[in-house]
Amino acid sequence: MKKIVSFGLSFPFLMGTRGAVLKSVKWRMMSYEYEATCEREEAWMPNLYEMTWLGAKEYFKSNDIVLLPVGSTEQHGPHNPLGTDHLIARDLAEKAAERTRVLCLPTVPFGVSSHHRQFWGTVHVRSDVFKAYLREVCLSLKYYGVNKIVIVNGHGGNTRSLVELARELREAGMFISVFIWWRAARQRLDDVFSLEERGHAAAEETSVNLALHPRLVNMKRAVDERKRQLFPEASVGVIYGSDTIDVTDSGVMGISKTASAEKGKGIVQVAVEELVRHVNVLKKANIEDLLPKPLR
Ligand SMILES: [Zn+2]
Repeated sequence: MKKIVSFGLSFPFLMGTRGAVLKSVKWRMMSYEYEATCEREEAWMPNLYEMTWLGAKEYFKSNDIVLLPVGSTEQHGPHNPLGTDHLIARDLAEKAAERTRVLCLPTVPFGVSSHHRQFWGTVHVRSDVFKAYLREVCLSLKYYGVNKIVIVNGHGGNTRSLVELARELREAGMFISVFIWWRAARQRLDDVFSLEERGHAAAEETSVNLALHPRLVNMKRAVDERKRQLFPEASVGVIYGSDTIDVTDSGVMGISKTASAEKGKGIVQVAVEELVRHVNVLKKANIEDLLPKPLR
């Protein structure tokens, strides 16, 4: 921290007019020092939480876009961390932030995942609460001139609420896009994994975990479990609100033992490429062109 020269403390015996003059000199110098600090450029940080408010001011004065990672804290089988969905979202968003110099916000770790609650440690919120909370986060950024937000979503159960939010905020003058890594990397996923390897906590997700944070994965506990049906005779074209425990005992839906860091790295690479491409397009886009069209 820069030392502020204090005349006031050097002459504490001075009173009256002279004291007041010296006090004013002291404040003028402090103000000069402060303004000089404000003008000094702060080194680029990809994360908002690493910045000071001066750095944030500098960023928001010339940028109207941010990345917001969201996920969940929910069971991912006996071998993957509960944080799988928000950790993957965070890592992809941070990698894209570094490459695009678009600021990354702190990750929202809780999502819409009550269907996993029978597995210990799953922490979930209702969809209306999730959406309302994120709406507040987005609108608080609008105050600083942000009008484009790329939400990097790591949990499928959040998608419906996020799309609803995007539609609502578009009416309020903000453009929200929702990036979903398994959609972005669909082609590569189809090439690398069979259908049985692509279920919840199966080889697809486990491989991405192994690529990004291997110390949190315990492959000795990995299991393969075929997803069962809630009814012996499943009906076609019917959706019901079942829980994960209804269809799997381990929390894994499919084959997870074939996971590898190598497979995961390829997926991460494709997903980050797509995210970077999207962020760069949105960065250049004019907000007026992204808002709802008028009645015709
Ligand atoms: Zn997941």
